[in-house]
Amino acid sequence: MGIVVQKYGGSSVADATGIKRVAQRIVNTRKQGHDVVVVVSAMGDTTDELRDLAEQVTPLPPPRELDMLLTAGERMSMALVAMAIAQLGHKAQSFTGSQAGVITDSVHGKAKIIDISPGRIEQAIADGAIAIVAGFQGVSQDTKDVTTLGRGASDTTAVALAAALGADVCEIYTDVAGVFTADPRIVPAARKLDRVSTEEMLEMAASGAKILHLRCVEYARRYDVPIHVRTSFDTVEGTWILPDHRSGENPMEQAIIAGVAHDRSEAKITVVGVPDKVGEAARIFETLASSEVNIDMVVQNVSAAATGLTDISFTLPREDGQSAMGALARIQDEVGYDKLLYDDQIGKVSLIGAGMRSHPGITAKFFSALASAGVNIGMISTSEIRISVIVDEGQIDTAVQATHTAFDLDATEVEAVVYGGTGR
Ligand code: ADP
Ligand code: ASP
Ligand code: MG
Repeated sequence: MGIVVQKYGGSSVADATGIKRVAQRIVNTRKQGHDVVVVVSAMGDTTDELRDLAEQVTPLPPPRELDMLLTAGERMSMALVAMAIAQLGHKAQSFTGSQAGVITDSVHGKAKIIDISPGRIEQAIADGAIAIVAGFQGVSQDTKDVTTLGRGASDTTAVALAAALGADVCEIYTDVAGVFTADPRIVPAARKLDRVSTEEMLEMAASGAKILHLRCVEYARRYDVPIHVRTSFDTVEGTWILPDHRSGENPMEQAIIAGVAHDRSEAKITVVGVPDKVGEAARIFETLASSEVNIDMVVQNVSAAATGLTDISFTLPREDGQSAMGALARIQDEVGYDKLLYDDQIGKVSLIGAGMRSHPGITAKFFSALASAGVNIGMISTSEIRISVIVDEGQIDTAVQATHTAFDLDATEVEAVVYGGTGR
């Protein structure tokens, strides 16, 4: 039988009991005749705790050293899982990202995978061992320094390895039973989806549904890797994320809405009083791009005829807020804008569904659900299969719940169990 890649998230390996439970699952898969490669995250909230620790030492930790620190989290769990497997009488070897051949660019904190050369993993498999790989990390091709791939990126390590090894499936084990119609932590009536197309999953992940890291879904689509999201706390079947051509979905019968996603990780910057002339927006966004800041929504108001000035607002990851404000402050004289406003008390709520392409009236229904719940809309953006709005941070839960109900997504019986994790 073929190779199975399994990824266990932080809540699955939170303590010694969890590590032993996971080891047993891995050994069971091995006994079924599969070659098993495992990717692990740091135990519980270790990554957050290490970050907090660094911030107690210095408000701005040097990115190279922060990566050195954070990668220690995954190193602990990989060794412990390998030990637990050995205890069960099976051969296991753990590998750091670098040893596993995860080659990245040199952008600390959000490095991109350039190449995977999993020679040592293949060797371990050939030797009959179970390979345990530290997720979320790699090594820079240029500087040879250790890098991290961004928060939640162990999923991406797993799918990238599955692609490089030609695995049959990449199983992502977490603290909920699969992908639901909304985050079960805020919508207890959310329903588990048996199958989600990669197209919809991409939009859900990009909209903040942190059940899967965005880049892992991009990888799965590019290399045709089937993903099975499930829980390590139970044996129930989870959700299959299948490339669109394999999902076998009849477009005529497709559900209109796949789910509602929310994101608490963004901030909004407004550049006030930008002279309305050719090239100003380009200058602003070039500056942000060269500071490695990813922009999400952008809104430019019509300029007031009297002043010839306009405001440009955009959203970005909160963690990039300070570097973006710094970069923009440096071009104030050159661009000639008035001032910058920063707001991190916002959230994004998105409605996603491939079926909305062919159904008019979805936007109206979404907005009226928000209005009835007393939620004010700050910004709007749409794609063919998604509508997103920016709302006040304090109204995110209300907005998600109201939308979920308005589109008849609520289950009659509660099926959304959260088995572990703190939701941090
Ligand atoms: P792990 O540590 O296993 O990687 P994460 O915390 O990154 O786990 O992701 C799992 C969490 O994703 C769940 O506990 C849940 O709160 C959240 N989540 C957000 N949106 C969804 C969704 N649509 N379906 C399921 N879980 C979701
Ligand atoms: N431990 C890392 C994080 O907390 C990576 C991951 O869990 O996927 O972001
Ligand atoms: Mg995760």
